[in-house]
Amino acid sequence: MTASDLSRETYGFAAPRGRIYDSITNVVGGTPLVAVPHLIQEDKLKARVLLKLEFFNPLGSVKDRIGAAMVLAAEKAGLITPGRTVLVEPTSGNTGISLAFVAAARGYRLIVTMPEGASIERRRMLRLMDAQVELTPARLGMAGAIARANEILNETPDAWMPDQFDNPANPAVHAATTAEEIWVDTDGQVDAIVAGVGTGGTATGIAEALKPRRKSLQVFGVEPAESAILNGDEPGPHGIQGIGPGFCPATLHTKSLDGVLTVSEREAIAAARRCARLDGIPVGISSGAALHAALQLARKPEYAGKTIVAIAPSFAERYLSTSLFNGL
Ligand code: PMP
Repeated sequence: MTASDLSRETYGFAAPRGRIYDSITNVVGGTPLVAVPHLIQEDKLKARVLLKLEFFNPLGSVKDRIGAAMVLAAEKAGLITPGRTVLVEPTSGNTGISLAFVAAARGYRLIVTMPEGASIERRRMLRLMDAQVELTPARLGMAGAIARANEILNETPDAWMPDQFDNPANPAVHAATTAEEIWVDTDGQVDAIVAGVGTGGTATGIAEALKPRRKSLQVFGVEPAESAILNGDEPGPHGIQGIGPGFCPATLHTKSLDGVLTVSEREAIAAARRCARLDGIPVGISSGAALHAALQLARKPEYAGKTIVAIAPSFAERYLSTSLFNGL
């Protein structure tokens, strides 16, 4: 046999998408569910654990869903107009990058405010997509970035803030897409879903869409053990970027969840590293947190033979300058 005799099926690769996309925003979603067989084997688990790889979104994170949804929903509602409205959002994370590609693709100016400690890679990615980045004093933290964004909002004509922590399009897009994809890809045979809680949009949207369809389904949030406010602790500094904002956002409906599990930064990083090493999937730190929580559930006897899905929001490369890579 020669290499040219081998087909896609022989290699086990994905099928062609069968279409041409009119815009990069149409490529959001449809992310794959992937097994972690070597982790399962090493931990001698009897449950099936699947990762939903959100870094298959166009700009590499789960936030592409809300970046696109918040802008498109506001456009449909007549709140914003391409070429006229200025989008303003305080964010040091993936949301800025997701808003930037949508703003560029749809023709909006975007101003992102963030504390000056934010990584150079993020700032440069934003500028590459023509977003304006305003740095606020590091000592003021996210509160400083939020205050500055509000000032800009008030002093700029035709400015609009997507406001990811308070925008109903956030949980709604996860209900309509993330949840639906899990349902279809598992044929409804999913027993537990674990998602890190930043805005809470992912966990809330999934829970509200799927729990009514399958009464036995459990949906858990995950928060940093170092800032476990949803479990009654004090907010504190932690290294799991993207989750654990230190307050309970409007986009998080804790009543819709079966609980919020706590994972330490050390456990999250250990799980992310094992996932890269054993199964060849280099995920980000918050993915490690969700994976660790999923593996903990999988150890319980009642989960034998059950399917657990953990949401993996982003790719390891976005955290090159963090403790994920310490010693490497
Ligand atoms: N992990 C990462 C890396 C993120 O950027 C986010 C979004 N802030 C989350 C987890 C949490 O998602 P959500 O905001 O939907 O709770």
